[in-house]
Amino acid sequence: MKRYDDITNDQEICMHYNTDTNPYYGAIIPPIFENALFTYPSHEKFMEAENNQENHYVYWRGTNPTVSIVEKKLADLERGEECKCFASGMAAITAALFSSVQAGDHVLCISNLYKSTMDLLSYMEKFNVSYSTIYSTNMDDIRKEILPNTRLIFIENPTNMNHEIVDLEKISHLAKEFNIRTVIDNTWATPLFQKPLLFGIDIVVHSASKYLGGHGDIVGGALITSKQMMKKIFEKEYLLFGGSMGPHEAALLLRGLQTLPLRMKIHQENTIAVAKFLDSHKAVKKVNYPGLPHSQDNPLVQKQLTGFSGLLTFELKDATFEKVKEVINKVKVFKIGVSWGSFESLIMSLNFGNNEKQLIEKEHISPGLIRLSIGMEPAEKLISDLEQALNK
Ligand code: PLP
Repeated sequence: MKRYDDITNDQEICMHYNTDTNPYYGAIIPPIFENALFTYPSHEKFMEAENNQENHYVYWRGTNPTVSIVEKKLADLERGEECKCFASGMAAITAALFSSVQAGDHVLCISNLYKSTMDLLSYMEKFNVSYSTIYSTNMDDIRKEILPNTRLIFIENPTNMNHEIVDLEKISHLAKEFNIRTVIDNTWATPLFQKPLLFGIDIVVHSASKYLGGHGDIVGGALITSKQMMKKIFEKEYLLFGGSMGPHEAALLLRGLQTLPLRMKIHQENTIAVAKFLDSHKAVKKVNYPGLPHSQDNPLVQKQLTGFSGLLTFELKDATFEKVKEVINKVKVFKIGVSWGSFESLIMSLNFGNNEKQLIEKEHISPGLIRLSIGMEPAEKLISDLEQALNK
């Protein structure tokens, strides 16, 4: 599946691009700039830098050369003008949210979002920022939910857990009609498989702790947007909140990016194989994965996604806590844990045995839903593990 003409450029961006070895004595990997501050030869030069910290190295909380290299790569992968890297995905999401609203504003969420994003929105109620969620991806339904004070629409595509597809071009048009900003969490697809800025979305955020880092050894985040929007975000939510990425994480992220295209290829192949297996299993009611052959026929999938990552969910026919627990406890290759997007395969469910009613009524999630992050173990091994766990 190839719909961006310059997809090979993405591979170049991930590898050598923008890592000029000349200033570093030809070193193939740029050094880790582990220094908190940078000095200047005169007061005039210092003032110039201090007044324009975005474009000068003054203090690590603002800019750092190792972090700058990875920021340039991520901006270019997303086809955006500017990127800033954060200490976590949540720090990037916090910056995106706080830069987009003020007291009295309303945020509209499209179906499920990552739980901590929802918790943050709830926390923001104390600043008189309200939010609501529309459990539909239909544009007429979404239009009806826009309030006079809606200033931001927050999206994940595919949506969290149920993996429904949102029409990014239509939603960005709709938002522009009402002068509303759009933010998307693009962690699932990575910039390799979905480029939301090209569909008119204003801000892209990532948890770099997932595929971008890819080795389960960093927590980080990124925010990509236009020069104009970034100028304000840099001066306020980046510099003042202080959630910037450190150079060690940036170096690990740079290493992760080098193999991103290769890793995503394996995640995709493995996950399609696992999804097909689950889709034909008698204990499974539904598989939520846009990479399933029949889901790939969806014109929106074809328009927006050039590939599929390794996170899928499936719903058990027997949607009881007992059954969910049994399946999770029976797998041997899959590890039980949070997060995703690394080399290892993971399994988890949101059903904790006391929240089924909330899952169904509030979050529109089946209590029989199990989430899998498909890693890089051989697909046959993952399938036979699931087979023994699902079969009585
Ligand atoms: N967005 C999504 C979709 C996530 O799953 C996560 C973490 O699991 C985050 C954002 C938050 O990222 P981080 O853990 O790096 O703060």
